[in-house]
Amino acid sequence: MNRLRGDFHLAIVVLFGAITVLGITPFALYRFANGQPLVAVVDLMIVACISGGSIYAWRTGRSYGAAIFVAVTYSIGCVVVAYLAGLSGLLWVYPVLVANFLLVPRWPALMISTAAVAAIAMGDVALVTGAHKVMFMATSFVVSLFSFVFASRAELQRSQLEAIASRDPLTGASNRRGMEAELEVAMASSIRTRKPLSLLVFDLDHFKQVNDSFGHEAGDELLVRVADVVRGTVRTDDRFFRLGGEEFGLLLPNANAASLRNIAEKLRVAVASEVQCHGRSITISIGATCFCPGESASDWLGRTDAAMYRAKRSGRNRSVFEDECSEEGVVPAMTLFAERPAGE
Ligand code: GH3
Ligand code: MG
Ligand code: MG
Repeated sequence: MNRLRGDFHLAIVVLFGAITVLGITPFALYRFANGQPLVAVVDLMIVACISGGSIYAWRTGRSYGAAIFVAVTYSIGCVVVAYLAGLSGLLWVYPVLVANFLLVPRWPALMISTAAVAAIAMGDVALVTGAHKVMFMATSFVVSLFSFVFASRAELQRSQLEAIASRDPLTGASNRRGMEAELEVAMASSIRTRKPLSLLVFDLDHFKQVNDSFGHEAGDELLVRVADVVRGTVRTDDRFFRLGGEEFGLLLPNANAASLRNIAEKLRVAVASEVQCHGRSITISIGATCFCPGESASDWLGRTDAAMYRAKRSGRNRSVFEDECSEEGVVPAMTLFAERPAGE
């Protein structure tokens, strides 16, 4: 149930799979009993394809591809049934048009639906007179238009909700939820393109003292200030996250070990020199690692966090790097401990 709640496409594909099996199988049996074996076979093929698509989506998690497959199968199926069964098959077009817009984004849905309606309107089996054809196209157009408007609103609201749910309102950085999603995409891209990928996690030093001495609001202002300095320091394609409290992350595409060191030190120096609170410099402790193909996102994040805690334990206001992967691509030993004057 958790998977279905968290993945809208998967939930829709599985729901449609269940509806198809329960809803179309009795029709197939009815058609067999009424001497329409060909239509019954087509119905059963639709059931088999949709069930297969649902099982594929469930097993692989590729719910978007499966949703396209299901929409195309429904549309081809309803065209074939309309040609074989005439008017009683034609009536399935309307639920299929609505289903297309629920299954896939509005533009592919519009294309698939238009192709299905055109394929039926061009033939002479289900619709005999010109007036019938015009009526059919007009009613299909109205159903598609309503579905299109509904799908547009739903897509807009979903993207707005996703943006709110993955952004930290105080600093404007993506939150931990946003990071987990982006980490997976960036890791897959790094493996595919064989380009390096690095991660940097940092935490403000003695931040509790700021809150205790100057109040929570002063602490909040400081977090915003640090976020501004970070944005001024990094490259445009670097991704910035607030992982929680006063801990932040930076995902650095195409950054190898050498540039990771440069970026980490540049960031550490920028914060120490540009962020002050009542005349006192604010410093950060950084853990920085390169992605090792083969490790999971949580392992990589955990490894980077561990490097950051080593920086804390070693006196704060410093960077600790882990920038080499072992041959098996598993967690390596720490290779460099870049120590700087604490300045505290
Ligand atoms: P260390 O150098 O070991 O990181 O020490 P620290 O004092 O920074 O760390 P600690 O974990 O002891 O304290 C973190 C503090 O951050 C505790 C909490 O009050 C504060 N904090 C967490 N989130 C926020 C926030 O959103 N706003 C403010 N103002 N403070 C926050
Ligand atoms: Mg801290
Ligand atoms: Mg902390």
